[in-house]
Amino acid sequence: MSAMPKPRGRQFFANPGPTNIPDSVLHAVAHQTVDFNDPAFLEVYDACVAGLKRVLRTEQEVFLYTGSGHAAWEASLVNLLSPGDTVLILESGYFSESWAKMAKDLGLEVQTIAADWRRGVDMAAVQAALEADKAHAIKAVCVVHNETATGMMIPPAEVRAAIDAAQHPALLLADTISSLGSLEFRMDDWGVDACVGGSQKGLMLPTGMSFTGVSAKAMQVHQGSRLPKHYFNWTNMQQRRHRSFVGTVPTSFFYGLAESLRLIEQEEGLDNVIARHSRLARAVRAAVQHWSGNNGPGLYCQNPARLSDSVTAILMPEGHDADKLRALCLQRFNVSLGGGLGPLGGKVFRIGHLGDLNEPMVLGTLATVELAMQVLGVPHAKGGVDAAIAALA
Ligand code: PLP
Repeated sequence: MSAMPKPRGRQFFANPGPTNIPDSVLHAVAHQTVDFNDPAFLEVYDACVAGLKRVLRTEQEVFLYTGSGHAAWEASLVNLLSPGDTVLILESGYFSESWAKMAKDLGLEVQTIAADWRRGVDMAAVQAALEADKAHAIKAVCVVHNETATGMMIPPAEVRAAIDAAQHPALLLADTISSLGSLEFRMDDWGVDACVGGSQKGLMLPTGMSFTGVSAKAMQVHQGSRLPKHYFNWTNMQQRRHRSFVGTVPTSFFYGLAESLRLIEQEEGLDNVIARHSRLARAVRAAVQHWSGNNGPGLYCQNPARLSDSVTAILMPEGHDADKLRALCLQRFNVSLGGGLGPLGGKVFRIGHLGDLNEPMVLGTLATVELAMQVLGVPHAKGGVDAAIAALA
C-alpha cells in the first residue's frame, strides 16, 4: 500500500519540457496510418515544413529526424564538421555541457568559453577567443539559446556580432529546443547557420521529432564535412521526396504539427505567443523574488538581461532539498515540477512556463509551491502568489 492515496484531478504539468499538449493536438496526432507518399499526406507534410520555416523565421533549409533533440544536435555536428575540427562551446549549464560531450564523443576538439552558470557567458571573451584563433581551427560556435537547466537566455544575435567583430569564418550553431515557439527566435536575421529544435516544448507535440534549420553557407560547408553519417546525412535527405527522414516518415507527428502550427500562427499569432510567454514568466519571477524575501528560495539566474521567459530555475535555501519539495508537489498535490540537472540536483527546482499554458495554470502551480513550502517548513516570505497576481493584473 502506498503511503499517500493517488491525487485526483488533472495533473498540473509545470515541467520545462516535454510540455502540455493541447487537446486538439492530441486528437490530431491520433490519426490512422497513411502511406507517407500518399498525395493527401504530402500536402499536409509540405504545409508543415513551410510553417516550421516561418516559426524558425528562415527561408533556408530544414531537415527533420525521428528522434528527440539529441538527434538534431548530432545531425548539426556530423553534417558540418570533420574529425579533429574544433568547436567553441559557450558554457551555459547542463545542456551546453551535454552538447560538448557529444562533440567530444564524435571525435571533435572542444574549446569552451567558461561561464558562471548564474550569469552566463561574456561576449567579449567569445570575441577574444575567436580573434586568438588566427589559424581558424574553430569551425563552429555552439550556443544554447535558452539553457533549460538554469533558466537563462543567451542571445544568439550577440554571438553572431562577436563572430563578425572577430572577422572569423566559424559557423554559428544555436540550440532552440526550449526557445522555439516561446521566445523570439530569428534564424535568418540573426545569422544563425544551423539551429536545433525539438517537438516537445514550444511546439506542444509529443517527444520524438526534431529538426535543424540550415543556412546556405552551412550547406556549402556540409559538402566538405567528413564525420561519418548515414541516417542524419543531409545530402541523402535532399535526394528524397520529403527532403528529410532517411526511412519511414512519422506521419502522426505531421497531423499534430499542422494543428499546433494552426494554434500558434492562426489562432493566437506567433507574436502573441511570445508575449504570453513573457507575461507568464514575469508572474513566476515576481512570486520567486517575493519568496526570497525571508531567506527563501530565489532565482537561480542572476543576470536580469538574460532571464528566460520559458523556464525559471529556483535555488532552494541552504539545507532544504528541492527534490523533497518536488516529490510532495507531485505525490500529494499532482503538480509536476522540473528537477535540478547535473550539479544542481536537489539544489534547484524548475517551473516550466512554456507551451500550452495560461494564467490560472501558472497561478495554480505557484500556489502549490507556496503550500508545499509551508508544509515542509521551507523559509519564505508569504505572498508570492499575490505578487504574481499583481504582475499579471
Ligand atoms: N537542449 C536543450 C536546451 C534542452 O532543453 C534539451 C532537453 O530538454 C536538449 C537539448 C536535449 O533534447 P532531448 O532531451 O529532446 O534529446
